[in-house]
Amino acid sequence: MPPEASAPHPRLAVIGAGLAGCAFAAQLLRRGWPAPISLWEAGRGPGGRASTRHSRRDPQQRADHGAPLINVCTEPPPALLAPLLAGGWIEPWLEPCARLDASGALQPIGAEPLLQGSRYRGRGGMEQVCRGFLALAGAGCTLHSSQLVQRLEPLAGGGWRLLGRAGEHMADADWLVLSGTLLVHPRGQALLGAAPAPLAAVAASDPELAAALQTIAALGAEPHSNLIWLLEGTAAAPWLALPFRLLEFDAGAQRRWGLWRVSIQPGAQGRCAVVAHSSAALAADHLQTVGSGSAAARLPGVRPDPEREQALIAHLTAAVQAALATWLPDAHGQPPPGERQLMRWGAAFPRGEGLPVALSVCARSRLAFCGDYLAGPGFGRAEGAWRSAELLAERLVELLRAPGAAGVHSAAQGTQEHG
Ligand SMILES: Cc1cc2nc3c(=O)[nH]c(=O)nc-3n(C[C@H](O)[C@H](O)[C@H](O)COP(=O)(O)OP(=O)(O)OC[C@H]3O[C@@H](n4cnc5c(N)ncnc54)[C@H](O)[C@@H]3O)c2cc1C
Repeated sequence: MPPEASAPHPRLAVIGAGLAGCAFAAQLLRRGWPAPISLWEAGRGPGGRASTRHSRRDPQQRADHGAPLINVCTEPPPALLAPLLAGGWIEPWLEPCARLDASGALQPIGAEPLLQGSRYRGRGGMEQVCRGFLALAGAGCTLHSSQLVQRLEPLAGGGWRLLGRAGEHMADADWLVLSGTLLVHPRGQALLGAAPAPLAAVAASDPELAAALQTIAALGAEPHSNLIWLLEGTAAAPWLALPFRLLEFDAGAQRRWGLWRVSIQPGAQGRCAVVAHSSAALAADHLQTVGSGSAAARLPGVRPDPEREQALIAHLTAAVQAALATWLPDAHGQPPPGERQLMRWGAAFPRGEGLPVALSVCARSRLAFCGDYLAGPGFGRAEGAWRSAELLAERLVELLRAPGAAGVHSAAQGTQEHG
């Protein structure tokens, strides 16, 4: 049963408009949540690690530079899958996949965890998945893009204050949902160039939060440095004729070429995006090299270096040309056509033990977590981010409709926002 529309309700803010943050808002509002939700996102739009980059030169040219697809492995499927399909936001991903071995021969795909089960992609780009979630959420959810939450402060009466880059007041919330770990993981705090969030002080009187923070701090991260290569016309044609749309590199091939995957993404009117994902090992050697056009380059603790960036772009380009020389002999050794950019994902995948679901709601601190770093089916994948969000929505609906639930304000107050 959803909370009654006339009942007082807590002001709810969500940090992060990736799959988890957007799915959470959609599911909570579909379950009848009567109050507005504010969603705060550092990037230019929704999507996070499942977003789409558009060329400034050619708006028709786009690339899914993070996850190229979502695979759903466990039953029943997420509740929001059917509405996303019905709304035309996503579609089955039915493209040919192959695996490259160290000798350069194609093999059928095996037990790759990212390719099992039913595969889906955003229709018109992966960002459409999150846009679909936001459409399902409707007017009850307001997205604030390009808004980095730099710091959190506990409010005297409980709840949280969100502060921006210059310490400006963004919003106050009775309950806060963190869909990314940036604000609470030591790595994220270094990127933000911020002093540790004052969560530790709050955790001193909340053993659940203390345990959650400890688990999150112990999480590792697997990096990948991606080459985004935009092609059109005669330059795109041979890539579009390849016998695969997604090529996985086995361990030997990863060592040989420093690549983990190549994703070929057809675009409008003969356009094509090639997204080459480096191996984790190569990315680890180039962790300080970020794409100057990426959101990471704008983080206070990050210093872009255009020379190193260009060198890595050239290295990845040559690796792709060498690995695919059997199918694209003319491209090998030739000056590369098209527009090329770098996207460094410092934490493409969480590694280690995920945050147990039991710690995803810290009621005393009015803080909750969702994202692919939650333990459970799909941990470290898009499916896990999505499922954790739906699960959290169910838990919060139950918790906050209980009489005397923590953080309940008068409905008339709403969320105070200054973003
Ligand atoms: C290169 C790459 C390839 C991948 N391939 C696959 C694949 O094939 N299949 C698969 O299942 N998964 C894949 N993944 C993983 C998948 O993308 C993630 O599991 C999923 O997108 C995670 O969603 P999320 O919402 O948990 O996190 P995110 O997408 O990281 O969302 C968190 C959001 O919070 C925002 N944020 C964080 N902190 C703040 C702050 N302080 N203020 C404002 N905003 C903030 C971030 O900008 C981000 O948008 C891939 C990932 C990468 C990078």
